[in-house]
Amino acid sequence: MTTDTTTDDTNLAPLLEDPIDTEAILLECGAVEPCEDDDLCVTDDLDAAWRERMDAMHKGDREAQLTEFFGFDDEDLEVDVEISIEMTEEGYVFVRANNRLAARWESDAAALADVAGEQVLGDWIPGWEGLSLEQRSQIVNGLRAFVERCPSCEGELSLSEETVESCCRTRETYAIFCDDCNARIIEVNKVNRKEREAAAE
Ligand SMILES: [Zn+2]
Repeated sequence: MTTDTTTDDTNLAPLLEDPIDTEAILLECGAVEPCEDDDLCVTDDLDAAWRERMDAMHKGDREAQLTEFFGFDDEDLEVDVEISIEMTEEGYVFVRANNRLAARWESDAAALADVAGEQVLGDWIPGWEGLSLEQRSQIVNGLRAFVERCPSCEGELSLSEETVESCCRTRETYAIFCDDCNARIIEVNKVNRKEREAAAE
């Protein structure tokens, strides 16, 4: 690990190893803190900074924002990368870079939370700029689970449990939705331990 994370007394290196422990990193850096009911909440300072970025970027050019997020605006890149965004009927957002799938988000609101989160987390996480895209993506993705209001419309959020049927088994999914615009903010597969152990065999 060659990131510059030793400038103060936080040593993130062990937490950044694969599989990256996003929650521990956010906690260690003071991005989230314990709050009521043994839960973790985003700190007031980060919440305010993040909200301000989301509001500022909401109506902006998402293609340009994503180009920056992926680092495709880097002048040293030898190929030009064109980003295209496709939204499915269910609201999922597929981002392609030169026609190859680069990322998928649950909604535009989810993508907005991540591009804005990426821009503010540098003030909390030492050595942020030196982390890989993969590491930064995973951390902003982890941060998204703590968003308190809808990134797009500031609506209240609700948790729902869905069962997704696939060919061979049903899969339980938790999703956080906006009550107002119905955007799917984040979804998490519920994998129980038995299934995980079975998968590991
Ligand atoms: Zn909303």
